[in-house]
Formats: sequence, C-alpha cells, structure tokens
Amino acid sequence: MMDLIKQASDHLRKSAYAIALTGAGISTESGIPDFRGPSGIWTKNPEAERKAYQRYEVFLANPATYWEERLSSPSLLGDLDRIAPNPGHHALAELERMGHLKTLITQNIDNLHQRAGSKQVLDYHGNESRLRCASCHARYEREEYGLEGLRREGRLPPLCKGCGGVVKLDTVHFGEPIPPDVAERSIEEVEKCDLMLICGTSAVVYPFASLPVMLKQRRGSAKAAIVEINAEPTPLTREGISDYLIQGKTGQILPQLVDEVKR
Ligand code: NAD
Ligand code: ZN
Repeated sequence: MMDLIKQASDHLRKSAYAIALTGAGISTESGIPDFRGPSGIWTKNPEAERKAYQRYEVFLANPATYWEERLSSPSLLGDLDRIAPNPGHHALAELERMGHLKTLITQNIDNLHQRAGSKQVLDYHGNESRLRCASCHARYEREEYGLEGLRREGRLPPLCKGCGGVVKLDTVHFGEPIPPDVAERSIEEVEKCDLMLICGTSAVVYPFASLPVMLKQRRGSAKAAIVEINAEPTPLTREGISDYLIQGKTGQILPQLVDEVKR
C-alpha cells in the first residue's frame, strides 16, 4: 500500500490541477453511517428509504406538507452539530492549503469538508446547513429563515427573498435534478483537471458517478490520472476507469498521503 501512496503523492506533486471527489465513506469515521453498508441508514431502516424516495414528489405536490414533515423528523444523518470532521477531511483541506488540490466535489450533505477548512467545495447533492430556492437556485443559511416561527404562524413553505419562489432544503432528493449551477461547474472542473482523487464513494449514484467516466473518455488534452481511495473495489476499479485503488480507510490513507507529499 505504501508504494501506491508514494505513487499518488508523485501524481499530486506533478499535477497542475488536481481535484477530489468524495462520498459518504469519508464521513463514516466521523460517526455518520453510509446508506447501504452493513450499518447503513437504509439497511437498518427500509421504511426511511421508501420515504426518502417520495420526498421530492411531496415537495412538488405540496410544499407546506413537505416542510411540516421535514421539521417534525430528525435528520437521517443524526445530530450534525455533535459530529466533527475526521483526519480524512482535514487532510484534504491541508492539500488545498498547500496548493495541491484546486477543488473538491462532494456527494455529502454534512458540511464536514467546509468545517475542516476546505474552501473550494461543490456540494453536488446540496448541503443540510442550507436552503435553496427551487426557482432561482439562490442559497440561504438555514438560520436566516426562522423555520419554527413560520411553522407556528402557519406560514410554511418559506418563500425566496429574491424571487418569491418556494424554498426547499438545499439537499438534493431522489428524483430531483442536480442544481444546474453545481452540475455545470463540476463538469468544468473535470474538464480542467489532470488528476482526480476519488475518496470514499461506491460510485453507483448517478450522475455523480459519470464524472470519472467523463474524465476517462475526455479527448483532446493530455491523459489525466484517476486514483481511488476506498475501503473496497468499486465499478470504477473493476471497469478500469481508475488507474489504481488504494484500499483502506480514508482517515488513515489521506493523512499518510499528506505526509508523503511534504517529504
Ligand atoms: P455509499 O454509501 O454508496 O458508499 C460509500 C463507500 O465508501 C463504500 O464503497 C464503502 O465501502 C466506502 N467506505 C466506507 N467507510 C470508508 C472509510 N472510512 N474509508 C474508505 N472508504 C470507506 O456512499 P456514496 O457513494 O457517497 O453514495 C451514497 C449517497 O448517499 C450519496 O448521494 C450521498 O449524498 C448520500 N449520503 C451522504 C452522507 C453524508 O453526507 N455524510 C451519508 C450517507 C449518504
Ligand atoms: Zn428565488
């Protein structure tokens, strides 16, 4: 494994524009379960999965009901205020500070990359700490809206301060399109990069999982390196999309990678 970490650190040092993609796996060491692993959220609670699939339809049909349900059920991920970034998040933030990592595209909604100090973060599936206008896509911090007060006064759903549109959680629900600004910027980052580090994702959720495939198929510019860091092989490993897999925990491997880059 150490050989592969050395190889990845060479790739990082030589790259002009490295980006990272992350998934639920990078946050398991912070105590947030993934979805479909042995102690995953859906594995333990199939009813919650069924409800999650309906959430976007409820929002479209009746945003007030959607908000009543959101405010009366706790976050599936647990109490995020009591959860802290782990060494994997900190290592990626440090790589950005050192100038080695330009952007991070995450599927996670937990805000832990930002809390670890990463600045250039694209929340591909939104962020639990924010709200988003379904019409103009403006983002708002949750606190800006006094949601409990609106609920007491019977004034749900919250409306956009810019355009008056209906506001939802920023989190992207099943069946909901990826917000167009984030989708476009992610593609731009993939087009620019010469190294992609893919950390803690099973790479089965689309369209996120198409980003590495897009890079592999990119034409015209020099070939980019694609490196996976994950507890297990994924379709990207098996289909030869990634050049190699460093198999293990992101909370252990990423700090070792930082040490190696610093040597
Ligand atoms: P996933 O659950 O499908 O896959 C996680 C992958 O990470 C698995 O391959 C697993 O083996 C691996 N893994 C688990 N712990 C690891 C560790 N410590 N080190 C290295 N690898 C580890 O997650 P996904 O690919 O991100 O897709 C699930 C969807 O669920 C995403 O859309 C995401 O938005 C959402 N989700 C987010 C959170 C969060 O915000 N923290 C949590 C659960 C699910
Ligand atoms: Zn708006």
